[in-house]
Amino acid sequence: MIPKSKQKQIAKERIETLFNEAKKSSKNNLELANRYVTLARKISMKYKVKIPLGYKRFICKYCYSYLIPGRTLRARVKNKKLIYYCTNCKKIKRYPFSKR
Ligand SMILES: [Zn+2]
Repeated sequence: MIPKSKQKQIAKERIETLFNEAKKSSKNNLELANRYVTLARKISMKYKVKIPLGYKRFICKYCYSYLIPGRTLRARVKNKKLIYYCTNCKKIKRYPFSKR
């Protein structure tokens, strides 16, 4: 039996690996990148492990597709907020620069 804490650790590492693979494959295979992201989300839900914030910003909150700046993602700054526009589902997500 693998203890729960160890399971979570493994899950977290797998999520990181999947995102690294997604990043690599996104250059020439967006479909594959999306599949890696889907897998990462499944692991995250199954083991109740959060997707690290740094990676989370590369997934569309609405359609969960992998976001590539300049290709499937348009980012711009407005009123001290980061505006993300997903070209896949055409939805906008706003990120404040700081959480204060
Ligand atoms: Zn989207």
